[in-house]
Amino acid sequence: MTNSKGLRRKSLRRFRSTKFAKVGAKGPTPRVGRLIKAPEPSNPPPDLPLGSDGVSPTDLRLVELCPLQLWHAARWPSETAAPSLGLAIGQIVHAAREAISMEQRGIYLQAESESKLWNEDVEARLRALIESTFERHYYLHVFGDPAARARSEWTGRLLGMERGRADRARDAWNLGLRGVDLANACTPERTEAEWFDSGLRMHGFCDELWRDGTKSRPVELKTSPPNDANRSANRYQVAAYAYLAQNVEGLVVSTCEVQYLREGSSDRFRFGPAWEGKVRRQAHRVMLVRHSLDPPTGAPSPQTCGWCPFQQVCPQSAAPSVDDAFASLKVFDDFGGR
Ligand code: SF4
Repeated sequence: MTNSKGLRRKSLRRFRSTKFAKVGAKGPTPRVGRLIKAPEPSNPPPDLPLGSDGVSPTDLRLVELCPLQLWHAARWPSETAAPSLGLAIGQIVHAAREAISMEQRGIYLQAESESKLWNEDVEARLRALIESTFERHYYLHVFGDPAARARSEWTGRLLGMERGRADRARDAWNLGLRGVDLANACTPERTEAEWFDSGLRMHGFCDELWRDGTKSRPVELKTSPPNDANRSANRYQVAAYAYLAQNVEGLVVSTCEVQYLREGSSDRFRFGPAWEGKVRRQAHRVMLVRHSLDPPTGAPSPQTCGWCPFQQVCPQSAAPSVDDAFASLKVFDDFGGR
């Protein structure tokens, strides 16, 4: 009989070289105190690739969570995080939200009556979009039953979010908003907004860009729940998008937002000159860490170790090995997300 756990491991390993998943999802509870063999030699030769000299907003998040991971990534750029159900769900939810937002925007731009904002037909179209996004994902199936449960849970959650959005659209309609104004008030102006700042060499895709009157608001979507360690790191990421929107496109940004989709909360904060300085300093820190010959010292969040691709070479890892993690199906029940 085929060993399904072995098959699953084999399938998962194949994805170690995919473009996905720079940052691991929440993994199993770390075994504090377990040390994994450090790389030999401890300092890489100077001609090892140090990754692209560009900085991404995700790097600003990562250096806040674990400078060591950034340092390792600069030396072994082909390594990517082991895939997990959390990463797959994160990819799917982001893609579904993008497709739904564009669909809803079209509906709001063309709506001729309030009844067009939400009805059985709209719900069926959105459900079909979500279903097809799950269907198209190419390795979700390897996670078996936990994937089916996550799919059902997230389909309900995404549709629930859309019902909430339809309520807000009805309120906006009753205030007299129509067409572009209605669409801007109830859907992001753009999804996957892209910028490149040649001065800072920073490049990034923002999940959503909303318009608040004459001002814009970048929004970063997270499927993992917030905690003390990642809340501040996530702020750095979305603040970097605000910095780019302002400096590359000349948009006026006064507010940033991180939405935690799983628990339905959001973290909004003001963006101003103080944050611009913090973004520049954090980008500088990324470069210093990346080009440092010695591994940085730091206190990584245990959450980042769970699916870190560098556990095997990281002397500070407190995480179980990838094999141990795969051996425990329990980890697949915890779809922490991207
Ligand atoms: S194993 Fe943990 S401490 Fe080491 S680089 Fe990865 S996240 Fe950082």
